[in-house]
Order: sequence, then C-alpha cells, then structure tokens
Amino acid sequence: MKKIEHIGIAVKDLDVSNELFEKLFGAPAYKFEEVQSEGVITSFFHNGPNKIELLAATNPESPIAKFIEKKGEGIHHIAFAVEDIVSEIKRLKNEGFIVLNEEPKIGADNKLVAFLHPKSTNGVLIELCQEIK
Ligand code: ZN
Repeated sequence: MKKIEHIGIAVKDLDVSNELFEKLFGAPAYKFEEVQSEGVITSFFHNGPNKIELLAATNPESPIAKFIEKKGEGIHHIAFAVEDIVSEIKRLKNEGFIVLNEEPKIGADNKLVAFLHPKSTNGVLIELCQEIK
C-alpha cells in the first residue's frame, strides 16, 4: 500500500456539506460524481496534498443511507492507493482480512476499488484504490 488516497465522509445532505467544506478549505469541490451502482453521489475537495470525499445517499437502500442510520454522519472510510489492486486483494485475503470485493469494481474518480470489511480492520472500512490508466 502506498499513501492515503483520500478520506471518505458520509453526509446527509451533499449541498449543505459542500458549502461547509468549501468554507473549511477556502475552495470549492473540484469534482462531483454519481456512482449509480452504489447509490451514492460524491464530491471531492483538495486540501494541500490530501483529498476528502463527501458521500451522500441517492436512495434509502444505499450503503451510505444505512451507515448514517446506524452511526450518524462522519468518517466512513479511509482509502489507500495501491499499485496493483488484484495482487493486493490476494495478499490481504491471505493475511486473513475480509475482502468485500474479490473482483475490483469501478469506483468514483477513475479508480478500481475494493473494500475490506471493518470487522477485520478494527472497525475501519478500508478502501483500496488503483488509478485506471
Ligand atoms: Zn472513497
């Protein structure tokens, strides 16, 4: 695993939170993207070298809707950049982590992604992401 690629924050209302984070960082979101398969709409902010992803549900069945129902708004996942997601999935499975996506899927921001179940990572949902070249 390389660096932290971004931190994902679950929010109820993307417009309200976009305004809030724009004030916080002094710059607006540079990108909006809907991931239909996940039932989420996302926005991305730069803060220096770091990236923050806001995620809001687009339907009540969305994993984000369920997360907010259970835990409220807040940090949803930490994403790590990887060079080769397929071999990283294999490696982490062998290490005993519960991988939620045996096959990487297409995520937001032009990435192949896979998630590790928080049960196997001290309660933190971890996203692996590899840039699609
Ligand atoms: Zn993410």
